[in-house]
Amino acid sequence: APKTVLITGCSSGIGLALAVKMARDKQKRFKVIATMRNLGKRGCLEAAAGVTLNKTLEIRQLDVCDERSIISCINSIPNRHVDILINNAGVGMIGPIECQTIEEMKGVMETNFFGVVRMIKEVLPDMKRRRSGHIVVISSVMGLQGIMFNDIYTASKFAVEGFCESLVIQALKFNIFISLIEPGPVVTEFETKVYEDAENADYSTTDPETADMFTNLYLKNSKAIFSSLGQTPNDIAEVKGLAGVVISAAKPPFRHQTNPVYTPMTALKHADPTGALMTDTFYKMVFNGHVPTEPDTNPIWLHFIGCPLHKLYPKEQGEGEMKKHGLLAGG
Ligand code: NAD
Repeated sequence: APKTVLITGCSSGIGLALAVKMARDKQKRFKVIATMRNLGKRGCLEAAAGVTLNKTLEIRQLDVCDERSIISCINSIPNRHVDILINNAGVGMIGPIECQTIEEMKGVMETNFFGVVRMIKEVLPDMKRRRSGHIVVISSVMGLQGIMFNDIYTASKFAVEGFCESLVIQALKFNIFISLIEPGPVVTEFETKVYEDAENADYSTTDPETADMFTNLYLKNSKAIFSSLGQTPNDIAEVKGLAGVVISAAKPPFRHQTNPVYTPMTALKHADPTGALMTDTFYKMVFNGHVPTEPDTNPIWLHFIGCPLHKLYPKEQGEGEMKKHGLLAGG
């Protein structure tokens, strides 16, 4: 029988691509329950689903911030049987913390962290009883490494990572797998929404130097990075990505980074437990002139990742450590 897959946040982006990819599986291995907070936004998914609609793909309402909507969605599934839960719904937030209210910050945690917790709490007891199941969480490389002006978003993804890292061992005892997916930039509405918010924000609540750092340095670089290194939702969903490497694996990996270009960045903190290698690298990248002059030429990340990281350091300081940890490969 096909496996029942429940995905959150399917009205756009990665969730939509993944729902359609799995519903269109040639071997018909999946029955997809594609959920979204607002059914009024089902148009794009319906169009992309095509002939699979109401066959291998069903659309249901589910708001990860509303326990009642979660329970009623799960209860609507025969025997509440979910084989694979994919926690995809998420929101972004960028900017100086002085310009964000605690309420706004809590909103990000509510969706990105407690949303995942609510979903897992609801399906875990059934999975335990059946002694089978797979829980997938769309985290981010920012679940592994903090990035300037993404303080709260990063914290929400770190929270998810810590939660899953704790839970996975208990889950394995019940034959339940947990997988964290860690994409780098992906070109979706996510990006559009955070830039729109950033453009409409009021920066008078922070000092002019910070405001300038955010609007000129950060936003410009960030856009350049998205256009040069960004993956598409289909890249994430495809055979060599989430659908293939993680969901169809006999023993799904606990972590999967979708963009290998970012792996060295996430390894810096492990190469030097004092944190100096990581903080120095980022400081130099951001403030010491490694800044793109044109949108898609020479973005700082390419400088960092594609070109020799050790050039940012006196040889003796970083090179040995980085070699030891394979960070200079190809550099
Ligand atoms: P997106 O904005 O297109 O998709 C996010 C979806 O979550 C939207 O459809 C939105 O309506 C939905 N959502 C938000 N709050 C919800 C709620 N309370 N209940 C149900 N649904 C809700 O962006 P995306 O890039 O496809 O994001 C999907 C996931 O990927 C997110 O968890 C995001 O953090 C993660 N991610 C994105 C990027 C990126 O660069 N786009 C990078 C790494 C990780």
